Amino acid sequence: MNIEKNISSVKERIANICYKMGRDPVSIKLLAVTKTHPIEIIETALNAGIEYIAENRIQDAENKIPDLLKKYKEFHFIGHLQSNKIKKLMKLEPDLIHSIDSLSTAGKLNDYLIRINRIQDILIQVNTSGEASKFGIAPIETLSIINDIDQLSNLRTKGLMTIGMFTDNKDIIRNCFRILRELFEKISKIDFNNTEMKYLSMGMTDDFEIAIEEGANILRIGSAIFGPRNF
Ligand SMILES: *Cc1c(COP(=O)(O)O)cnc(C)c1O
Repeated sequence: MNIEKNISSVKERIANICYKMGRDPVSIKLLAVTKTHPIEIIETALNAGIEYIAENRIQDAENKIPDLLKKYKEFHFIGHLQSNKIKKLMKLEPDLIHSIDSLSTAGKLNDYLIRINRIQDILIQVNTSGEASKFGIAPIETLSIINDIDQLSNLRTKGLMTIGMFTDNKDIIRNCFRILRELFEKISKIDFNNTEMKYLSMGMTDDFEIAIEEGANILRIGSAIFGPRNF
């Protein structure tokens, strides 16, 4: 397992698709998804040029993020947020939470942010595959929920996130990403107080090339950098 080599290969694949699409690779944030991997492995990635890291479980993040402080540029939280974990997550000072998937979670997060006098950047997770097993807001309800979240004083919605369907069928995956991009473009045209459509977070190890073609500007990549995860 050579993490340096994996990172350069991922960056090269990103650059190739960007070239094909006439996009600037610099406009794409590469998030290394460090879940299940120990600190030493994460440090290797940070030394090899990774700036943005992401975890999906609060407890794992609590065990690692404080020890990595200042070695990364940004820490993102990408997992489902339970309301009883809000306080713990806020201690880790995430730069961006990708996975706000209900108005009720947004409301509870906002209440806590008011108490600690902090502003938090978030993305809204949309369930573009329609799978019952996935978290996220239904595409058809997204605009109305964003409208409600826009009223919450301490949250700043910065865009949308989705997980493509787990399938080998590229057209189905592309369709998930297209749904998210179309929502993003539609919502971009609306004037809000606390909401802007800046980030489109989509694309993982098996589908990030399609995601770039469909407009992603944050990629969340684990296995292609760190190898397969042992559960
Ligand atoms: C684990 C995870 C990823 C990364 O998955 P890989 O297929 O290993 O690249 C991306 N996004 C979320 C939300 C994840 O939980």
